[in-house]
Amino acid sequence: MKRQKSFEEDGPKLYLVPTPIGNLNEMTPRALEVLSKADVIACEDTRTSGQLLHHFGIPSRLIAYQNFNEDTSAKGIIKLLQEGNTVALISDAGYPLINDPGQRLVNEAVNAGFPVIPVSGCSAFLDALVASGLKAQPFLFVGFLPPSHNDRIKALQMYQNYPMTLIFYEAPHRIERMLTDVLAVLGNRQAVLARELTKVHEEFLRGTIEELLEVCPTLKGEMVLMVEGAKQEEVQVSDEDVRKYANALVEQGISRSDAVKQTAKKFNLAKNRVYELVHGDPQ
Ligand code: SAM
Repeated sequence: MKRQKSFEEDGPKLYLVPTPIGNLNEMTPRALEVLSKADVIACEDTRTSGQLLHHFGIPSRLIAYQNFNEDTSAKGIIKLLQEGNTVALISDAGYPLINDPGQRLVNEAVNAGFPVIPVSGCSAFLDALVASGLKAQPFLFVGFLPPSHNDRIKALQMYQNYPMTLIFYEAPHRIERMLTDVLAVLGNRQAVLARELTKVHEEFLRGTIEELLEVCPTLKGEMVLMVEGAKQEEVQVSDEDVRKYANALVEQGISRSDAVKQTAKKFNLAKNRVYELVHGDPQ
């Protein structure tokens, strides 16, 4: 086990600093302080972040940290930490790591024993979720689905029985194809599309997937799609899943009849049906 006391020792640290997803007034005083004091600011795009820092009057000590060379970038930043530098990681907008680079760096910094410290702030999916009107918890943040139709369908099938609110990011030029696949796999559920959050044209479209599909060709800007989770009565469990679940209980030492009872309760099925699936004959 590794235990991190974030502020107990002086020494170099890695800060994860969110930046505004639109409205620049959402930059917090703490984020500004951390960025001003950091020896190095690692970012996705030095031009985008350079403009942001310039806006806030922070001298730019930027280096590029990018997805396509995360391996080398992470190693370079670990070296900077080892040399005694405090590093702040930012992305183009919102939290680093949330569909943005940073995962590799965080893992390596943790392994190397450097404190990894989050600064609170903006993320598009949390803004979208809390104002959506859909159940705020439990939720599952998926981020971007795969761009290809077949992979997207497979990914959606994985989530189709999940009872929690599902949250996706999508680009405007793909939203229609994505909603078409969501409709095919998840059905015509209630959904909310939040666009241009914190900006002048912020908009929430609350309706069914079919209703969203009707208007989505006209929609532009950055968007988050949230879809209500599967209702208990919609959850389709395969016979194989039921068998596997009951057999796993038996392997754990639970008696066969109790395993049948627990499985029936878990999947809201009749005990006879579960017994039949597991043993082949009705009880
Ligand atoms: N790191 C960011 C975060 O914490 O939200 C996400 C970065 S990801 C590369 C960009 C995607 O986030 C966009 O395609 C969109 O789906 C979503 N997004 C970012 N800003 C947004 C905004 N102002 N309104 C709605 N969605 C936004």
